[in-house]
Amino acid sequence: MISTGPLPAISLPPDPSVTAGELRQDEGRPLSLYVHVPFCSSRCSYCDFFLVTRLDHIEAFFRALAIETCAAGPLFRGRSIKSVHFGGGTPSLVPVRFLAGWLELAASLCTFSSGIEIALEANPEDLSGDAMEELKAAGINRISLGVQSYRQRKLSALGRRHSAEDAMRITTEAVSRFDSVSIDLICGVPGESTGEWLGDLQAALALAAPHISVYMLSVEPKTLLERRIARGLVKVPDEGVQASMYAAAIDRLSAGGYHHYEVSNFAFPGHHSRYNLACWMREPYLGFGPSAHSFMTEGGIERRRANAPSLLRYFDNPAESAAFEEVLSEDERFVEHVFLSLRINRGLDVEFLRKHNKLGLSLPEVTERFIAKEWIVIENGQLLLTAKGFLFADHIAGELISL
Ligand code: SF4
Repeated sequence: MISTGPLPAISLPPDPSVTAGELRQDEGRPLSLYVHVPFCSSRCSYCDFFLVTRLDHIEAFFRALAIETCAAGPLFRGRSIKSVHFGGGTPSLVPVRFLAGWLELAASLCTFSSGIEIALEANPEDLSGDAMEELKAAGINRISLGVQSYRQRKLSALGRRHSAEDAMRITTEAVSRFDSVSIDLICGVPGESTGEWLGDLQAALALAAPHISVYMLSVEPKTLLERRIARGLVKVPDEGVQASMYAAAIDRLSAGGYHHYEVSNFAFPGHHSRYNLACWMREPYLGFGPSAHSFMTEGGIERRRANAPSLLRYFDNPAESAAFEEVLSEDERFVEHVFLSLRINRGLDVEFLRKHNKLGLSLPEVTERFIAKEWIVIENGQLLLTAKGFLFADHIAGELISL
């Protein structure tokens, strides 16, 4: 059984978006940059991210990326950058000189803060000791490894290109070479037993990567996995089994010294993902590349923008490939604040919730129901999830915003 007490507090900076129960803006907050590198050598069975498998477009992509970055210069010139994240896709697939060139360009347009996190998502099959040294020389100081499992059967079921042996070897090597290393693990893979999942957790604990992300496999529309399930070829574990796998991850990783600081994320002290935390804390970030999202604040206005998920459109006009751009209304900001605050369990001000209780429904009735289920506690006027409540964070947020 997982414990039901309040979670230990994460040491986060004070929430700048809520003061005395009010949402407010702050353009002086540090900025993060995200680059979507949309290339993979093949598509995994469960993946619905925007990517292409035509690797001969890599050079043209980095030319377009430079154009988009320069055009966005006025948005971040002179700003202090706290983190840069290369995601995808598979950024570790591209020659390091392209990543280094883009970092140089970005650094010429803004100020990289002294403790900046420069993270790169990597697949084990692309890395070697030499490749890691090249990445370090380019300025990358955090590697996020798409391990997914240390079990060959699971890796094959997911359509991953690396072997269990690769996953072990590269995790060990990365931990010894980089300041910070994160690994992704997936549970709830077709045919997976609880014993198999416990084996993955045990392997991860033994390898001691300082950050672990745990995801429950989600079956996305139009993926190979969805088609296989529809044809009855494979079956994923039911929700109850998935929930017990997630609970086991919380138990084992917490006992292993990891701090559960977000629904899916666990870290040794000082190793949380600065880029992801910035997104969950509603700090501004600028995204580059097809399908990349941005969140900017200016003059008291919050804006979200997403580039179109199309390489053709991106090549056609890299500086103007937005598929949508919207100014957030007060209600949208409230909803985001509730969902994201619960994800990182930073505490929700009960008075703030009461003020936004537009339908006049009973907040105490709802909170008492959650307290009785041991999903939340209220301490010093702050609503906090318990470890058990993390399983239901989105459900709790959904009820709180519907009041
Ligand atoms: S490596 Fe990652 S981005 Fe690429 S296809 Fe697999 S899951 Fe998707």
